[in-house]
Amino acid sequence: MNEILKCIKVSLTYQSEISETQAVKDLSFTIQKGEFVAIIGPSGCGKTTILSLLAGLITPTTGTILLNGEKLINSDNKIGYMFQKDELFPWRTIEKNIYLPLEIKKDKTKKSLEFVKSLIDKYQLTDFIKSYPNEISGGMKQRVALIRTLAGNPEILLLDEPFSALDYQTKLLVCNDVYSIIKQEHKTAILVTHDISEALSMADKIIVLSKRPAQILNVHNYTQDMSLTPLKRRENKNFGSEFEKLW
Ligand code: ADP
Ligand code: MG
Repeated sequence: MNEILKCIKVSLTYQSEISETQAVKDLSFTIQKGEFVAIIGPSGCGKTTILSLLAGLITPTTGTILLNGEKLINSDNKIGYMFQKDELFPWRTIEKNIYLPLEIKKDKTKKSLEFVKSLIDKYQLTDFIKSYPNEISGGMKQRVALIRTLAGNPEILLLDEPFSALDYQTKLLVCNDVYSIIKQEHKTAILVTHDISEALSMADKIIVLSKRPAQILNVHNYTQDMSLTPLKRRENKNFGSEFEKLW
C-alpha cells in the first residue's frame, strides 16, 4: 500500500476579534491508499474542522498536510466531501444533482459524462433520474449524494456524519450500501462520526480523539475480513468487546 495523505503536527485555532478557539492540536497521522479510516470523538471536539482541513477549505495554523507527498494547497478536485445532511438541491432533478460536479468543473468531456452515466447505471439510479429529491427516500438520497460525490472522481472521500439524520434501521442499510460502493470503486475514505458502532462496522482503522482541542488518544487497526459488510461485522462475536474498548 502507499501513503496518500499525511498530517504532520497539524493545529488549528479559530480566531475572531474577541476570542480564540483551539479546535485541533498536534495532529499527526498517515492514511494509505484504499484505506477506510474512521475518526471518532465527542461532539464539538473538532471533527468537522479536521475534514475542512483535509479538504483544503481551511489552512492549518501550524503543521503540514501532504497529499500524495505534496503539500495540500487547494483540494484540486482530488477530494470529495459528503456532508451530514445530503444537501441535494431540491429544485434540481436527481440527474441534475449528480452531474453538478461536472458543471462546476466545466468538465463536459465525453469521458466524464460516460463515467457518470456508468455510475448511475451501476448503482441502479436510472429509474430515479427524472425525480426530485423530495420524491425519494432518505436512504436513496444518501446514495444519490454519494454518487454525486463520486461523479467528480475524487481520490479521497470525506464523510462527515453522513448517516446521523437517518433512523436506525435505514442507517444500517445505508451504511452497507455506502460501504460496498466505496469498496467497489476502490476509494480511500475518511469517515467522521460520534457513533462508535458505526465506525467499528466500517473502518480498517479508527482514530480516537480527545475532547476539544482534538488530539489523538489512540489509533486502532483492524485486520478483519474486509469482504464482510458492515452488517456482518456487527454480528462478529468480538464486536461488543471492541465497542467497550473504544468507549
Ligand atoms: P465537531 O465536528 O467534532 O462537532 P467542530 O469541528 O465543528 O466539532 O468544532 C470544534 C470547535 O470549534 C467547536 O468548539 C466549535 O464551536 C468551534 N468552531 C467550529 N467552526 C468554527 C468557526 N468557523 N469559527 C469559530 N469557531 C468554530
Ligand atoms: Mg461536526
